[in-house]
Amino acid sequence: MSPLPLSIVVPCYNEEACLRELHVRLTRAAAAAVGAGYEIVLVNDGSRDRTWEIMRELATGEPRLVAVNLSRNHGHQLALTAGLDLCVGQRILIIDADLQDPPELLSDMMAEMDKQQADVVYAVRRARAGETAFKKGSAKLFYRTLSRLADIDIPRDTGDFRLMSRRALDALLSLPEQARFIRGLVAWIGFRQAPFPYDRAPRHAGETGYPLGKMIRFALDAVTGFSTAPLRFASHVGLGLVGATLVLVIYIVYAFLTGQAIQGWTSLMLVVVVLGTVQMFVLGMIGEYLGRLYIEAKRRPLYIVQEIAGRVGGEPVLGHVATPQGADAIATSETPGGRGSLPSA
Ligand code: UDP
Ligand code: MG
Repeated sequence: MSPLPLSIVVPCYNEEACLRELHVRLTRAAAAAVGAGYEIVLVNDGSRDRTWEIMRELATGEPRLVAVNLSRNHGHQLALTAGLDLCVGQRILIIDADLQDPPELLSDMMAEMDKQQADVVYAVRRARAGETAFKKGSAKLFYRTLSRLADIDIPRDTGDFRLMSRRALDALLSLPEQARFIRGLVAWIGFRQAPFPYDRAPRHAGETGYPLGKMIRFALDAVTGFSTAPLRFASHVGLGLVGATLVLVIYIVYAFLTGQAIQGWTSLMLVVVVLGTVQMFVLGMIGEYLGRLYIEAKRRPLYIVQEIAGRVGGEPVLGHVATPQGADAIATSETPGGRGSLPSA
């Protein structure tokens, strides 16, 4: 069997209103780019609406569509990982289900990949239509802070919308961590990576799966995954405080010798409040790292697949039997599921 030229992987959470349109536009874009040699892998990330029913329906009449149902909501990055583990194509397009990333750019991204001889073509958001000022502002702040903190170069204003080569994907899938900030991990693997500017469209329908709480957790995963700068913060503040302490000690001795001691509720409170705040902040930061260490140490599977409808690499896999893999296994076409766990009946 000759290798499949293209896989398109789409994580979906409560996207019932987008799926049919997504399917139509993806199919058209894929056919324009590679003819018949593609598969579309839709991953249902524990949606609470009819996303899975619609996916299964779509997969029934369509041999090129694989629908994967996770056992619960595992989060965007892990749902995406599940799809990436399962897909078999030589080139892989990652795209959101809400059509904010236009599928029609696929052909141009393929051409760019050929032209630049690149392993990754990542789409950079020039403009973001239909998003709140808060979302745009916080995203801007986030990407700038991250690129200052991170030990590697993570491209700014870049989401997960990207085209990757098989060897780049295999490198990505060999990274075992639970806290997956995929756009950072892709930057980490290296190879030749080319930017591809585009204008982000508004959501086709439905609402964002990233409320504020999830956004903050995502940002913390990014920072803790790619930088130890916050841990060094404590020693820097400590060093700064040494200078302040020296001045204070001199003042205290002077005040004592000249008989002006006692007084000073203000200065006392200032010291207590400042030190207390700094200490709690540093403790919280250490906690963020420690908590992630704890989660990694458990080595649980990244996700659990409940069922799959469709054909992986042309093979029907509904009710496929597979044993859970260790966290370091790389998915191949023989081991769909990779680091996830599939049902054994
Ligand atoms: N998503 C997911 N699981 C989640 C949240 C989101 O699979 O828990 C998917 C969602 O269906 C979409 C993509 O991740 O395809 C990006 O999410 P969304 O569009 O809601 O985020 P935004 O574009 O608003 O940042
Ligand atoms: Mg979106």
